[in-house]
Amino acid sequence: MAHDRNAPTEEAWHALTGREALDRLDSDTDGLALDEVERRQASWGANALPEENRAGALRIFLRQFKDPLVYILLIAAAVSLALDNLANATFIAAVLLINAGIGALQEGRAEASAAALQDMIRVRTRAVRAGREERVDATGLVPGDIVELAQGDAVPADLRLLSSQDLEVDEAPLTGESTPVAKNADDEVKEGAVVNERTTMAFAGSTVMSGNARGIVCRIGKDTEVGQIAESLAHGESQAPPLVLKLRRLTRQIALFVLFAVVLLSITQFLRGETPEQIFFLGVALAVSAIPAGLPIAITVAMALATRRMARCNVIVRQLAAVEGLGSCTLIASDKTGTLTENQLTIQRLELASGEQWDVSGEGYRPDGRIHRDDSEPHDECAAAIAHLVRAGMLCNDACIRFDKAGEPAASEGDSVDLAFLVLGAKTNEERGRMLERYPEVASLPFSSERRFAATFNEVDNAVVAHVKGAAEAVLPMCAEVDQEALLKREECLAQEGYRVLAVATGRVSDTANDYGADDLAGLGFVGFAALIDPIREEVPEAVKRCREAGVQIRMITGDHPATGLAIARELGMADEASEALTGAALRELEDEPESLAARVRAAPVFARVEPSQKTQIVELLQDAGELVAVTGDGVNDAPALKTAHIGVAMGRGGTDVARRAASLILGDDNFASLVDGIEQGRCAYDNVRKVTWLLLSTGVAEVLLFFLALFAGLPLPLTAIQLLWLNLVTNGIQDVALASEGVEPGALKRKPRPVRERIFNQRMIRQTLISGGYMGSMAFLLFFVMFEFFGIGEFEARNLVLLLMVLFENVHTFSCRSETRSVLQVPFAANRLLILAVILAQGVHIGAMYMPVLRDVLAVEPVSLSLWSLLLAVALSLLALDEAAKWWRRRPHRHGKKSASGGQR
Ligand code: ADP
Ligand code: MG
Repeated sequence: MAHDRNAPTEEAWHALTGREALDRLDSDTDGLALDEVERRQASWGANALPEENRAGALRIFLRQFKDPLVYILLIAAAVSLALDNLANATFIAAVLLINAGIGALQEGRAEASAAALQDMIRVRTRAVRAGREERVDATGLVPGDIVELAQGDAVPADLRLLSSQDLEVDEAPLTGESTPVAKNADDEVKEGAVVNERTTMAFAGSTVMSGNARGIVCRIGKDTEVGQIAESLAHGESQAPPLVLKLRRLTRQIALFVLFAVVLLSITQFLRGETPEQIFFLGVALAVSAIPAGLPIAITVAMALATRRMARCNVIVRQLAAVEGLGSCTLIASDKTGTLTENQLTIQRLELASGEQWDVSGEGYRPDGRIHRDDSEPHDECAAAIAHLVRAGMLCNDACIRFDKAGEPAASEGDSVDLAFLVLGAKTNEERGRMLERYPEVASLPFSSERRFAATFNEVDNAVVAHVKGAAEAVLPMCAEVDQEALLKREECLAQEGYRVLAVATGRVSDTANDYGADDLAGLGFVGFAALIDPIREEVPEAVKRCREAGVQIRMITGDHPATGLAIARELGMADEASEALTGAALRELEDEPESLAARVRAAPVFARVEPSQKTQIVELLQDAGELVAVTGDGVNDAPALKTAHIGVAMGRGGTDVARRAASLILGDDNFASLVDGIEQGRCAYDNVRKVTWLLLSTGVAEVLLFFLALFAGLPLPLTAIQLLWLNLVTNGIQDVALASEGVEPGALKRKPRPVRERIFNQRMIRQTLISGGYMGSMAFLLFFVMFEFFGIGEFEARNLVLLLMVLFENVHTFSCRSETRSVLQVPFAANRLLILAVILAQGVHIGAMYMPVLRDVLAVEPVSLSLWSLLLAVALSLLALDEAAKWWRRRPHRHGKKSASGGQR
């Protein structure tokens, strides 16, 4: 088999003719038989690159030690060993291992879910097998398979082209060359040609920018050109999301501050005559407790969880940064067709050149329905004109639809406008296949968003006839003897009712030409308009309302008629009677007046007749206006806008592979409403990061305060170094991860987006950390002071109780941190069972340690009586009262209906 595998790899496929390639691979233009495909799949394996070196468990585990804080602790362990303090050394080592374990577990889970999401955006491709075209998963392709390529497709394997039409391919991933390369099945390529000269081939990893083609798979998986260079291609450095970078910066700032405090403390200690050994350990312990070491892990968890939750709402995250971006998004620029609407177009009305209007009954793609007016059928001239329109619409068409025996649509493929014309045809008992037999196609110009029309040239009665359908502005200039202005008015009337309007024209063209193009489209006869309805998606009106409440603006960007766009925007409540659409032409005219351009762009709810290339311009202008913009897109031409936007959103179902690769998010169901759910989850993730920050920073503040107070009061150290390590890395380490998985707060979509520049460590965070941290620190100090000064309790016992109190404080505080604004009682306990479990576990571990023979000696703890424990719990619970009061104070201005001081107040 190994021998079998090698053969096709070495072949110079580019130098063979298509026919030779077919023979060599034992295939033909009808594709392979299904059992042959199975046989080859078994012997060739999957068409996939070798598993990207996803970090193994050990790698992830070891990665946890790459942290300055860990280095300090390792040094501390080494010093302990050198000083013959085996117990300390072992303890530090154990703590490090446990922490690395927890960290690795979390990170591993995050990576696994990221990998699972990658699977969801697999490439699907059109293959011809046993004479039938079908959509298959690209991983199942085998050498010899026949594959169809169209604009926007990812090339699924290395292909020898069999036929091609104006094919242009972006080979940047292979060659680094970003301008598209023209390919042609009929070129002759020398055997020694280098990769970017092999114009008869389409290589895996590249994408089709325009044109279409058919090719035979000659190499798959790691045998492909990309497969050979897979290592260098593998995703590249994935950059940490801005939020993580921000928090790293915060942690570094805190570390500096702590270092300063440690130095101060060490000097005092030294002056008091402590041994260097003790000073060293204390410094280490204090650093560990005050530096929020758990933050990065908790953030990773919060982000990973958000991606998983988003996936559940059909939002697939490609770049982690988008999770955070969605949370602060202030404006969504959305496509109309397919995102706000169903993209299930149905022709509802025909308006013939004569001005006569006819209704078409029936819904969706079901072929039952008829053309009528007040229940009477068309006759004579009208019937002929309608038949003419139907014929043009069906011939000038790239879609295909199959109906089952019961007449239900069984399978459909292609553009929804084209499908609508096929369904119209079915209602008049016409079928595209039969029609093509009668009127063979000579040439065609496929639809593109720039051209806004499609055309075909067919042989009709020994002459060549052009059939054109498209936007009226594009089609009418091709027609002879028409009053363009009057017709545009009629188009506008239909558009105002929310219809997408297509003009249809036909006419004889020269039959001697051997190459037909747009130049040949002149002097045609106008046949009529078809008015198509595209129902608004059911969930969208509600989603638009939620956006409004969340302070997120929505703009529609469409290639459609301004009146159609506006009608739909009004129906959705995105625009009112007074608002106007900004057209692509107006945009271009305004280019000389940057100021009024910016103002108009900011104000327009709808951008219509926009060319794909203008989308980027609109996005940039909106970004300049200070908006954090999410843009949806599906076509090849949307890729630049998707990249420009803060958050590029591609369509999972309808979109092209090119758009998907440019995007940071993918909507699995193409649905606008899902995007709004995504925003909610994005805000939740950000909230959770803040919650963890609050918890970790306030306990850090408490510990530092406790130490300084004791020092100034001339007391011994309130906790040993080991106890501090325990408190932070073991007990808190369990809780912060649980806090990171809090669910969405009910008001998350009712408040304004946070200011783009808001820092995690803002005024409010500083205030709440100081309040709760200050309280915990001073209460713990008070306890220590009273025990020591008034009751004459020994150091050992006093520390035991202070440590227990601190653990209890942290337990209680975790509950407070579940919301920055809502009362503890308003946050349902059952909503985060993991958190309850974590708190019980943290407390349980500590009590357990009091009874564990070796551990209790290392930690210097001993069991306490139930009554003493209850007393300390009561003290700890008083923190809750303080936190509640602070939250109440913060909520107060809103209650009185005053404007909040700044956007920073949420
Ligand atoms: P949208 O932003 O709504 O997706 P498009 O770029 O797809 O807009 O379409 C712009 C215009 O092109 C439409 O208003 C219509 O007049 C015309 N058009 C759309 N699809 C087709 C098609 N398949 N064939 C011919 N013309 C089309
Ligand atoms: Mg479209």
